Amino acid sequence: AEEALRQSQKMEAVGQLSGGLAHDFNNILAGINGSLELLKIRLAQGRLADVDRHLSGAQSAIKRAASLTQRMLAFSRRQTLDPKPANPNHIVAGMTELIGRSVGPSIAIRMSAASDLWNTFVDIGQLENALLNLCINARDAMPDGGTLTIESSNCHLDDARASQLGLSTGAYVSLCVSDTGIGMSKDVVARAFDPFFTTKPVGQGTGLGLSMVYGFAGQSGGTAHIDSEPEQGTRICIYLPRYEGEESLENNVQLAAAVAAA
Ligand code: ADP
Repeated sequence: AEEALRQSQKMEAVGQLSGGLAHDFNNILAGINGSLELLKIRLAQGRLADVDRHLSGAQSAIKRAASLTQRMLAFSRRQTLDPKPANPNHIVAGMTELIGRSVGPSIAIRMSAASDLWNTFVDIGQLENALLNLCINARDAMPDGGTLTIESSNCHLDDARASQLGLSTGAYVSLCVSDTGIGMSKDVVARAFDPFFTTKPVGQGTGLGLSMVYGFAGQSGGTAHIDSEPEQGTRICIYLPRYEGEESLENNVQLAAAVAAA
């Protein structure tokens, strides 16, 4: 019975992972589709100035898709993820264009980056996917437009706050995505991190985005937390442990490449 339980837990984990990857893949395809759609409009208008930018947008999305399939291969070979010393402000800065494209023009984006944000030790591709998931959920919660805020902070969690969050006391970096959208009832908040829990119509929600975010944050030594009120909006924060070392040079090279492509 124990072996059967282990097996079923393993199957569940594989199911969650493959479903989650498919979900991230779909987000990327939607982004490419958006770039091509804009490209079509610009070409029809004869506005060639923007064409290059939208082509680069589609290209960088294709690169993200390729790195996702790389990770699927890595998982099927049972390799572990690839955390590196990174500064979340730099990761968010490299994503502004992508986020803007993903949420569309009816949503205002506000960035509030802590100066001297601490570094953390994290899989950068996974953190990008998690943030994109949160932004896309925020967009879905604001069908009539609104404001999306991405905020980074240094946090010292005292005993009380840490135990509320299920973390050890100490220093963390938080990344919070807030929206002014429809919000969630208490029941929805309680289940939102569950895999396959969705309130969206069939075909529109997989119920995997937030379970991926939660799983990723936990695997990274942190957690994720939801604050939400119906009709007031939602704020979802990812906490990642502070890393005392330097950001690796490799990240800056990646960042430079992302900025050049944007
Ligand atoms: P999906 O988006 O595919 O439904 P998620 O796991 O990302 O799956 O989200 C689960 C549910 O949590 C959503 O169906 C929705 O009810 C709720 N939710 C997530 N993010 C928000 C948000 N920003 N505002 C309101 N509700 C949200």
